[in-house]
Amino acid sequence: MGLPEPPPLGTAALPPGTFAGQVALVTGGGTGLGRAIAVEFGRLGAHVVIASRDPEHRSAGGAALAAIGAASTGIACDIRDAAAVGALFDECEAGPGLPDVLVNNAAGNFPVPAEDMSPNAWRTVVDIVLNGTFLCSREFGRRHIAADRPGSIINIGASYAWTGGPGFAHSAAAKAGVKNLTETLAVEWGPYGIRVNGLVPGLFPHEDEVEAIRAVPDRHRSDALRQPAMRAGAPRELGWAATFLASPFAGFVSGHTMVVDGANWQRRAMLMPEVVPVREQMGRGPFTMGPPPGATS
Ligand code: NAP
Repeated sequence: MGLPEPPPLGTAALPPGTFAGQVALVTGGGTGLGRAIAVEFGRLGAHVVIASRDPEHRSAGGAALAAIGAASTGIACDIRDAAAVGALFDECEAGPGLPDVLVNNAAGNFPVPAEDMSPNAWRTVVDIVLNGTFLCSREFGRRHIAADRPGSIINIGASYAWTGGPGFAHSAAAKAGVKNLTETLAVEWGPYGIRVNGLVPGLFPHEDEVEAIRAVPDRHRSDALRQPAMRAGAPRELGWAATFLASPFAGFVSGHTMVVDGANWQRRAMLMPEVVPVREQMGRGPFTMGPPPGATS
């Protein structure tokens, strides 16, 4: 049986207009889960700003928002670049307004055994996930403190922040940093009226998954049977959680990281399955010294 299916797409738990007159900035909001989150903010009346590098991604997000009658603005930004992040907020303020909500969703990820990981691969993922989250949060915090305006930040995480993530050393370490940063900023910025929370998706398959993730052997085989919920998540369920966390109804919730995964990350078997080394799980050949395949530095 498993956990019940969620209410249909198009419904919302929060009152209509919860974010009317507000601006929600979603990094990476043109694709996948970021787009699903952006749509739920739009449905509740927010003007959504989608910030990312690829114009096609931004237009896909804009089209999804237009389809539900929500207003949006796409702004080019590489969140690894502090000056670009400053310019992003300048453009918001000159256009729809200073964002009331920031969703740090943008990420980069690909599986690779740690011994094969190039310094460049490590740096790239940490730069997007951890440094990018810090740079966007810092800009949001500085401007809200200066303007004496409350606000809400949602950092999208991953459960391997707690457990480690075999095959994803770069992303798991970066997400652990993001969870820790969430807790620090919640305390530092509470006095200024800024709430900071984390939101962790479980298994949420979506059409925009990058090739490196899609190519993990058996990625989508029996998704349902791999979860205590007996089903995967529907992206709207993540959007609903994000809008709740950013809403006035969560006004006393800060420094918390909410996991939306049907309890999958707490799974333990009475007898744990036999260990299969990461290289073998990924169908990689034996380890050899020298530059890893595809390494650029
Ligand atoms: P995705 O489809 O790969 O989207 C990543 C987004 O980030 C893209 O829209 C990309 O847009 C943007 N981005 C990447 N680098 C950027 C940069 N330097 N500057 C600005 N934007 C950048 O990811 P997803 O699967 O939807 O995941 C969304 C979030 O959920 C991520 O934080 C991820 O770690 C987390 N998560 C996902 C799952 C899952 O099952 N999918 C599970 C656990 C956690 P551009 O290419 O246009 O820049």
